[in-house]
Amino acid sequence: KLLKFFKNKDNVLVALTIASVVLGLAMGLLLKFVATISDRQVYLIGFPGEMLMNMLKMLIIPLIVSSLITGLSGLDAKSSGKMGLYAIVYYVVTTLMAVILGIILVVAIHPGNPNIKKSLGPGSMTKKTDTDTLDAFLDLIRNLLPVNLIEACFRQSQTNYVTKLEHFYENGTKVFINVTKIVINHQESTNVLGLVSFSIAFGLILGQMGKEARIMFEFFGVLNEVVMKLVKLIMWYSPIGIFFLIVGKILEIKDLANTASSLGMYMVTVLLGLTIHGCITLNLIFFVFTRKNPFVYFHGMLQAWVTALGTASSSATLPITFKCLEENNGVDKRVTRFVLPIGATINMDGTALYEAVASIFIAQINGIYLSFGQIFTISITATLAAIGAASVPSAGLVTMILVLTSVGLPINDITLILAVDWLLDRVRTSINVLGDAFGAGIVDHLCKKQLEELPTDNELGIVEQG
Ligand code: ASP
Repeated sequence: KLLKFFKNKDNVLVALTIASVVLGLAMGLLLKFVATISDRQVYLIGFPGEMLMNMLKMLIIPLIVSSLITGLSGLDAKSSGKMGLYAIVYYVVTTLMAVILGIILVVAIHPGNPNIKKSLGPGSMTKKTDTDTLDAFLDLIRNLLPVNLIEACFRQSQTNYVTKLEHFYENGTKVFINVTKIVINHQESTNVLGLVSFSIAFGLILGQMGKEARIMFEFFGVLNEVVMKLVKLIMWYSPIGIFFLIVGKILEIKDLANTASSLGMYMVTVLLGLTIHGCITLNLIFFVFTRKNPFVYFHGMLQAWVTALGTASSSATLPITFKCLEENNGVDKRVTRFVLPIGATINMDGTALYEAVASIFIAQINGIYLSFGQIFTISITATLAAIGAASVPSAGLVTMILVLTSVGLPINDITLILAVDWLLDRVRTSINVLGDAFGAGIVDHLCKKQLEELPTDNELGIVEQG
């Protein structure tokens, strides 16, 4: 039976990818405890992982643009409207459910007490750039309408960083202050939201143009096909890349024991919430709407889930999510092309849950009591912050500024939870990807009839993917 299982190339790949995560964790911890490894060596160890990230990121722009344009131009206004509506309702409802679950858990478990702040060491932190809630919200809208499409491919409109002041003492007297700048968002990240909104509009118009637009259909169809073929190749490199990404990340962590003991309960709260949302809530919703077995569906997208754990980026995982849903789970390409790029950009259940827990945790360690009204504000801003977060590693930390400022909590304390973000980030990303995948499955099921009546890609002259 085992032999038969491994005769299937896809199963071999999934097994290799899972093994790479487990081995990466084991190897990282082993090296951390038995060897002294310099920063330079950590950087070199992480290099094969960096290559995987580069390859996946390289495909994001052509993939998002080509899939949305081919996806939307192959739909009529009625079906794209219906599909879009179902997807948006699903995104908002599941994100809110994740936030509410996070709030219930963090209030019930109460992982934060003021001693934690002391145990995480001295050092006051000051925020360098000032963003208030309205600015952050306007920024989200601004990203939807990029001034320049080329610029949108490589620039996110804001950069946030905090400076950490470390005081060094000798015999009780302060000898010097070390200032480190911690960049908490990624300047190089793409304004995916802007590309998504442009591609949707472009695809819709193209779809209405008929024969004269055929050349464009074909162009984006072929582009999409080429990208998917590249994904297939990259997938075989992913176990190696994921292994080195994880080893490198573990070696980067400083003072593992101290942060684990001070932030342990906080991590347990976030991880428990993510597990409940991923294993129960999403599965139940999927089952209720489709009557299909959610575990079989999950099995089909295992590769994407593990890649999310390895890369901590939903957009870097997007190419693999496409592959898994279309080939293993039989989701209609017109659905994946439309809803997956949007989902990867705005639907982040894991991030929303995390932001709610983290903000209330920060209130708890500062001994700040939050009223019901403030908790309500957190639930709304956490949802907005998750929508606005770019799908790159640690993006959730940046948009948390929005949640914290909305209820007047100290933004500088974000640096306190930075130490454990390497782990929480990858787990919340894997839940983000899971949410997108289940959403696509539900939309596919609800729109099946309508899609059957529509002409297929071939009739429109678009190249059929292999
Ligand atoms: N890394 C997450 C993602 O790509 C975003 C976050 O930081 O929460 O989905």
